Amino acid sequence: MRRNLRHESKPRQVGRERRLRLAVAGLRGTVQFKASLKDHTSFHIGGPADVLVQPADVEDVIRLCRQTTEQRVPICVLGGTNILVRDKGIRGVVVSLAKLRAIKEEPGSVLYVEGGVGMPTLIGHAIRKSLAGLEWAAGIPGTVAGCVVMNAGTRLGEMKSTVKAVRIVSPDGTLLDYQAESIDFAYRRATLPRGIVVGVWLQLKPGVKSEIGQVVKDYLRYRRDTQPLSMPSAGCVFKNPKNDSAGRVVESAGLKGAAVGDACVSTKHANFIVNQGHASARDVLSLIRKVRARVARKTGIKLELELKVIGER
Ligand SMILES: Cc1cc2nc3c(=O)[nH]c(=O)nc-3n(C[C@H](O)[C@H](O)[C@H](O)COP(=O)(O)OP(=O)(O)OC[C@H]3O[C@@H](n4cnc5c(N)ncnc54)[C@H](O)[C@@H]3O)c2cc1C
Repeated sequence: MRRNLRHESKPRQVGRERRLRLAVAGLRGTVQFKASLKDHTSFHIGGPADVLVQPADVEDVIRLCRQTTEQRVPICVLGGTNILVRDKGIRGVVVSLAKLRAIKEEPGSVLYVEGGVGMPTLIGHAIRKSLAGLEWAAGIPGTVAGCVVMNAGTRLGEMKSTVKAVRIVSPDGTLLDYQAESIDFAYRRATLPRGIVVGVWLQLKPGVKSEIGQVVKDYLRYRRDTQPLSMPSAGCVFKNPKNDSAGRVVESAGLKGAAVGDACVSTKHANFIVNQGHASARDVLSLIRKVRARVARKTGIKLELELKVIGER
């Protein structure tokens, strides 16, 4: 059970801080205590992490996993683009893979991509190398690891179609590789063993550079025309109900423009909630409750969250 710091006795709090320090001791990457997560999420919302770590490399991730397990400190990974961090922030260690950004070419149009590589960077690389297969993902801002975990997708395709294998550091610090056939991919979900995804092998195919570039360009234009990309958001909030689109359902319930504080249902795309300035996680959660209740009342549909909500209640 997560415990509220304010109610901790002094010795317990001191013990907890000591365990946190031991959990991140000796890392070569960056370690930041009481780090605001607002700057690390596309929503620009969220309280502080006890510690935010950017491991220098996979060895550092292994050390961090081992030490957090030994010290019984909770750990989670943040790419930050499909996440709502609660206002009280996250207890324990939050990991950003921003320094794991190598892309290596392997025979047979395979790329080995480190977990922290952003999809826009990866797609740019694929175009330069005339490799086709990722055009469907143009405009998705997450990391390649986050996209595997979420089985990110668009109407043109989804992550599972290109994943060949996944490299994971387990909680005890073991490096393990899993073939795609052993992973259960479903709509916006992949069932993976516990741990941190530090690398992904992607099976692409040779293509014509100008053609790949054109598909990407067209899809980016389509997204700019239909999504509120100039405002902070976390992408689609709800999963699409069977044979329908969540955006259509929310819009038909008359909820475009509905707001709580600075959190607002986008008038451009009703499945986006945008932060109009200083929205809190509490505002967003309250708006989500309002949308779900109205949609359920008007249509009988129970919208499921695609957005991941994390942090202390
Ligand atoms: C403007 C905008 C447009 C978007 N469009 C799309 C879209 O078209 N399609 C789509 O599917 N999504 C879309 N998204 C959402 C988001 O980009 C994807 O869900 C993406 O897969 C999330 O990647 P992330 O790295 O940000 O992960 P996060 O959002 O930080 O995390 C998602 C989940 O994965 C876990 N996770 C992340 N990294 C790791 C790791 N290395 N190891 C283990 N677990 C990990 C997290 O703990 C969390 O549970 C959009 C978001 C925005 C802001």
